[in-house]
Amino acid sequence: MKQEDYGPISGSTIFKGISGRKAIIMAANTRITTVAKGIFQAAKDTDSAVFMELARSECDLKGGYTGLTPKDFGKRIREAAEEVKFDIWALHADHITIKNGDATEIEQTRLLIDAQVTAGYTSFAIDASHLFNFEGKNVREELEKNIQVTTELAHYIKKRMKGEDFGLEVEVGEIGRKDGHGLVLTTPEEAVEFIKSLHTNEVYPHVLAIANGSTHGHVYDDKGNVVEQLSIDIPQTKAVAKALRDNKLNVGIAQHGITGTPRDLINQHFPKGDIIKGNVGTFWQDVVLDTFKVYEPGLYKDIQEWTLEKYRAANPGKSDRQIVDGNCKFAIKEFFSEIYTVNKDTEKAIQAMAYAESLIFFKAFSSYGSASLVRKNMS
Ligand SMILES: [Zn+2]
Repeated sequence: MKQEDYGPISGSTIFKGISGRKAIIMAANTRITTVAKGIFQAAKDTDSAVFMELARSECDLKGGYTGLTPKDFGKRIREAAEEVKFDIWALHADHITIKNGDATEIEQTRLLIDAQVTAGYTSFAIDASHLFNFEGKNVREELEKNIQVTTELAHYIKKRMKGEDFGLEVEVGEIGRKDGHGLVLTTPEEAVEFIKSLHTNEVYPHVLAIANGSTHGHVYDDKGNVVEQLSIDIPQTKAVAKALRDNKLNVGIAQHGITGTPRDLINQHFPKGDIIKGNVGTFWQDVVLDTFKVYEPGLYKDIQEWTLEKYRAANPGKSDRQIVDGNCKFAIKEFFSEIYTVNKDTEKAIQAMAYAESLIFFKAFSSYGSASLVRKNMS
């Protein structure tokens, strides 16, 4: 069989394999890849399919803020999968973000996609949601630029993949965008118009990222303490999924920004099957840094001090804790060699933590058994 090398399989194969099931596939943003082995071991032991991903901001041709290029990331994750001997996973490019859509940016984006394809990525998320036209007279006009850029880049990925299947995610509402009244949520009408227009342009995404009340990273109270995220609007999410189904648009929802959402809430109340992909990012960074607190106190202190020094001025009125919490991700590149040369005991603890936490995510997402479903569909 083709999967003997434990390399990534197409994201589309995973989505097709779980079609119609009430399951969410975890997509882990492993900014510090030490957690990958633990995640894969848990995926193997629970028979759960999984996506491994980093966003453009985290991983680009210059290494993003994790210090990893697509080639580095692909290699490290592939090695972790090989070590564990786990086969049902996809290598996903999260948030290929386009901020203004001008010719230079599109050209740079093509170069990034080239590197991702060369690195063996099997799934891609085009995020042109920032190109929302607030002056548009109707939904179609508001989304026009997003539709145009998403189409152009989806066709480019298809061309570069040379007939190989791949997973495709697109984004209609910018995650976490706020207006004067709070978080802006994607409406069913926007989701339907967006996907219909893409279909007209012969672009057929498997998953759609919507704005439904989540935020990337942690959520804070007014004192700057990290609190649980209870803001994901479940009725609205269900309404979007229903509208897509009613219009016979075969696309699931990608839930971004899950860190901080209680897993019992996910388990009992998330519309699994409407949401089919769940992104977990900052959580895995916390696993590493929390382990460092005890196992590598010197390194942890250095990361804290570097972050405070660099970001205090730009964050007046915020507590030290919140400044560190919100910006320590930028320290990953700075302390790259230290982070990846910690003691074996530290790595072991990180992987054990990642393993245990993954079990709970897979259970809450009802993804136990999903890998076999995908395998069955492949044979
Ligand atoms: Zn996201």
